[in-house]
Amino acid sequence: MTVRIKKVSDSLYTADLILPDMPGIKASWSTPEPMRVDQIVEELRSRGVHQIDIGDAFYEADPRWLTAFGIGSAAKGYVCREVLDKSQPILLVSRNHEDWLFLCGAGHSKEASEYTLLAVGYLINSDRTLLALRDLPIGWKAERKSANSPWIRSPLDSSENLS
Ligand SMILES: [Zn+2]
Repeated sequence: MTVRIKKVSDSLYTADLILPDMPGIKASWSTPEPMRVDQIVEELRSRGVHQIDIGDAFYEADPRWLTAFGIGSAAKGYVCREVLDKSQPILLVSRNHEDWLFLCGAGHSKEASEYTLLAVGYLINSDRTLLALRDLPIGWKAERKSANSPWIRSPLDSSENLS
């Protein structure tokens, strides 16, 4: 299954979903008209396309696609050292106020020097599974057991409020 995405305007894209080994059939599904990123993501997800493949196809069409996705190019997140140097996957994501926090899941001190501020778009481009958390509400967190496990969401309790 291959996804091809083309940028039409600032916020509109077209998509073609192509199934392999079907000669003569160009696409098993195409956008009937240019659509917004979130609409295309929903359509492709409902057809069984993996979030990572969708992200890759959008990135190929437009490296700045996350802005159209509703993740402002200015959105920033704090990462711990292990996430910064990519020695550990991101296993805990939380959102206090406007701040996103992306941690490896080990214990961390609250010392500001332990954390580095990065663009959220940069993080998503290197770990597409984070896309699933784009609508994580303020005051919530998401955890997973490993990089291949599903994200499990829960509200932050007051002790977890790092700000
Ligand atoms: Zn860490």
